[in-house]
Amino acid sequence: MTRPAYARIDLGALRHNLGRVRQAAPASRVIAVIKANAYGHGLVTVAQALDTADAFGVVGLEEAVSLREAGCDRRIVLLEGLFSSDDIALVCGYRLDPVIHSDHQLELLEQAGLSRPVDVWMKLDTGMHRLGFAPERFEQVLARLRALPRIGTVRYLTHFACADEADPASTEQQIATFRTALDGKPGECSLANSAAVLAWPAAHADWVRPGIMLYGASPTAARSAAELDLKPVMTLCSELIAVAARRKGDAVGYGGDWRCPQDMLVGVAAIGYGDGYPRHAPAGTPVLVNGRRAALAGRVSMDMICIDLHDQPDARVGDEVILWGDALPVDEIAAAAGTIAYELLSGLSQRVSYTCR
Ligand SMILES: *Cc1c(COP(=O)(O)O)cnc(C)c1O
Repeated sequence: MTRPAYARIDLGALRHNLGRVRQAAPASRVIAVIKANAYGHGLVTVAQALDTADAFGVVGLEEAVSLREAGCDRRIVLLEGLFSSDDIALVCGYRLDPVIHSDHQLELLEQAGLSRPVDVWMKLDTGMHRLGFAPERFEQVLARLRALPRIGTVRYLTHFACADEADPASTEQQIATFRTALDGKPGECSLANSAAVLAWPAAHADWVRPGIMLYGASPTAARSAAELDLKPVMTLCSELIAVAARRKGDAVGYGGDWRCPQDMLVGVAAIGYGDGYPRHAPAGTPVLVNGRRAALAGRVSMDMICIDLHDQPDARVGDEVILWGDALPVDEIAAAAGTIAYELLSGLSQRVSYTCR
């Protein structure tokens, strides 16, 4: 018997969410961001389900190679570009589009040379101050790129620091800085992550780069996924593997600092931080048992959680437990655990098995 810790992936919901991207940014092409194993949803499965996307964005070269070996013929953008000169042969051999964000990467290209034409994306740092060239270097960097033998099309991108926030000043500034750097020069551009797809039409440009919204989580604390008509793609499930009657005052779990407020049932589900369920989710964090809300009791263990079943006296071993997904937004669990849905989704461990529908 397999241990009951599995992620159900709803491919229909995934396609629905891509439809929401198209609806929000109808004039733009879509780079579906499927880095980090498609935010924990399964790289190749997700790419195959999103076969109407115009391109895919990944970070690991290994991910790009897996996509090509699985038969993916779309444009694949390497969002962090090259890490070493060894990567250049892969970029050429597998027809990948690297982002070029630093002098180090320019030097790698200048030293190694390209064996076939490669399209690249020049990244400008318009205010996030993480990766990218300073905007005033645009002309100089473009000249160096164009001087490379066999360079193909050069496209341009930047990334927003605060597109999910209510205060628009920072994003307005980043858009203006990007436009000023390009100064009307021809060439395709990409600025928008999920938050900007939904909130910043002025940033849609030629290509949008949604990630989190494809998976049905909200890119902004201001609005829920349901309000944005995004459908959860992953439902993380387990089962009750034990149910026991406890007495008022009984301590439950590590530390013994949570006590039963009354005589009641306490259940145990076979999922814990070793599976990617957040250890920081406090007692009281909601779970669904047979579709009804219940709450964590005591601390999250590596392999298990305990569940307060005081109002579910009929619960028994084998009953379904949902940790997030259908009817229990991952954003709500993330907030309870003091993090964001991105971390929960991408942090599932190898131990979780996957089923698709
Ligand atoms: C991860 C990533 C995205 C997607 O961001 P979301 O907030 O998940 O939509 C877009 N662009 C770049 C460069 C990224 O690294």
